[in-house]
Amino acid sequence: MLAKRTQLAYMNIGLFSGTFDPIHRGHLALALAAKERFSLGRIYFVPTGNPPHKQKQPLAAFADRYAMVALATMGEKTFLPSLLEAPGTPAAVVGGKKGPATPEVNYSIDTVQRLKQMLKKADRLFFLIGIDAFNDIAKWHQAEALFRECPFIVASRPGYSLADVANALPERLRPKAAVTKPFAKQPATGDLVLPGATIHLLDGVRQNVSATAIREAVSSKRSLAKFVDAAVGEYIRKMGLYGGH
Ligand code: ATP
Repeated sequence: MLAKRTQLAYMNIGLFSGTFDPIHRGHLALALAAKERFSLGRIYFVPTGNPPHKQKQPLAAFADRYAMVALATMGEKTFLPSLLEAPGTPAAVVGGKKGPATPEVNYSIDTVQRLKQMLKKADRLFFLIGIDAFNDIAKWHQAEALFRECPFIVASRPGYSLADVANALPERLRPKAAVTKPFAKQPATGDLVLPGATIHLLDGVRQNVSATAIREAVSSKRSLAKFVDAAVGEYIRKMGLYGGH
């Protein structure tokens, strides 16, 4: 008789949210590095629906940002495009299960809680984020509560330093300077385990690309080949996104 295939009792799962306007190689590099370092069995890419903070410029339509996420994640079976923040969706569908209704404004705390309701009890959820976005975390809605919901994986990004992680925390979670000072000159790697927050540092993500640079490249008719997957570049051209007509 064939031995029963042993199944892990839980899965490590990542939630990676962003405007993804458009999704690019920096996002994929972050997700791949996180998947490998933390054995993530699944990563949900969640294009933001109605983010609370005012955008510098109007975002491309949710449908277009979602379509590009779907195209970019097609080749990696652990990467899933997510409708968790789809505007106006009466019941977002995640992993085949129906979730609660989408709220009007999407706060990360709500998105995390909604995803957790859809996972198995034993699954372990990680919140994936780049250090540039993490630098603003103290201003997020219910930031302290968000840290209580799940551990964070904070990735490096060219032009930003992972050494800033502790200082970026909401004041009440921030460790005393006396604790962090002796480590200030050491490379920022490993884990920061504090009362109320667990943060895993993910160094080695070094893709110097941003969605802003891509939108500028489209409007000045430069090639997108080094920034995005071919299918995403093709979609941008076909749909005339970012003033590329
Ligand atoms: P924009 O240029 O429009 O501000 P962006 O390139 O920063 O966009 P977002 O969709 O805003 O992309 O980012 C989503 C998440 O991905 C954030 O957590 C951000 O820190 C992270 N991220 C984006 N680009 C990179 C990159 N090149 N390296 C590491 N992390 C990144």
